[in-house]
Amino acid sequence: MTYSSFIPPQRILMGPGPSDVSPQVLSALARPTIGHLDPLFVGMMDEVKSLLQYAFQTSNEMTLALSAPGSAGMEACFVNLITPDDTVVVCQNGVFGSRMSENVKRIGAKLVLIEGEWGRAVDPESLDATLLQHPEAKFVAFVHAETSTGARSDAKVLCEIAQQYNCLTIVDAVTSLGGCELKVDEWGIDAIYSGSQKCLSCVPGISPISFSEKAIEVIKHRKIPIQSWFLDQSLVMGYWSGKGKRAYHHTAPVNSLYALHEALLSLKREGLENAWKRHQEMHDLLAKGLAELGLDFVVPENERLAQLNTVYIPQGINDEEVRRYLLNEYNLEIGAGLGKFAGKAWRIGLMGYGARKENIALCLAALKEVLATTS
Ligand code: PLP
Repeated sequence: MTYSSFIPPQRILMGPGPSDVSPQVLSALARPTIGHLDPLFVGMMDEVKSLLQYAFQTSNEMTLALSAPGSAGMEACFVNLITPDDTVVVCQNGVFGSRMSENVKRIGAKLVLIEGEWGRAVDPESLDATLLQHPEAKFVAFVHAETSTGARSDAKVLCEIAQQYNCLTIVDAVTSLGGCELKVDEWGIDAIYSGSQKCLSCVPGISPISFSEKAIEVIKHRKIPIQSWFLDQSLVMGYWSGKGKRAYHHTAPVNSLYALHEALLSLKREGLENAWKRHQEMHDLLAKGLAELGLDFVVPENERLAQLNTVYIPQGINDEEVRRYLLNEYNLEIGAGLGKFAGKAWRIGLMGYGARKENIALCLAALKEVLATTS
């Protein structure tokens, strides 16, 4: 067997993530690796933290980039906050909500599940009714942007309801951060996690997370230790704070953090609200073109994510054949359906650097061609 360097093709990533990474972010990755306790690197980590506070719109001190993907961010929120005697309400309207439920079950806590319709936002009235029936509930968890369906839930309203019942909130913002309105402090979110590879358009493998003061109090007053050593935020925080003085916890992914720094810098330069607006404008353009092709959206208009567009595959069209054609002929990736939508829908991402007019024009033209040839 002979081996050679792996040189990937230049794809256009319009699936559910990872999204296209800009040349600036890719070149940041190739900068010289320095020690993760080098004072210059520590200074850059401080900037990553404050840029993340900007992206999340929070002044939470415990805001950092976890050295692991979004799934670890999810797990970090659950294992740090929840103990087996807690009751947790999970609003589940897609694949990622079901992973939240799985986390609660594995901790051994009591799960109260609100099963919503896939392709719809979480229903605030069901949350209110459930909390009324479960005064013992301590936490409410939901996915802001459900990537498996393309539905956007009203995080502000859901947090308001949770607060009325004195519950802390755990919010999945993997696909929402940088792509649509998200205001951690104003909405009173207590624990939130995201991913580097969606609307931040960075390389995969990092999870931005943030915990409110109330959440930190819960962590401090735990009666049993956090079962995961690696995800124990009281230890990780010693690594991410300390004003220039760091306690070794693990070796940070140095170059990936250069990339995250660069990606957050471009978000700051563009301005958060401008980025949200751009995603919406690009969605409107794509939605118009998809309608002209006769493709129907899964999610009602007022509950749709701009950054993840889920459309039904027309009858008689071979899902895999179409996606393979787009990849082979156009170097264009769109996403397959996930969970209940496997084989039934496509997921077209407009995330971060990928949310651009030229990508939309190419995607629509390529889809038009392939739909005409395969039907
Ligand atoms: N939550 C949501 C909403 C996601 O879309 C994803 C990934 O697509 C995850 C969690 C898990 O993130 P990762 O794949 O980075 O572990």
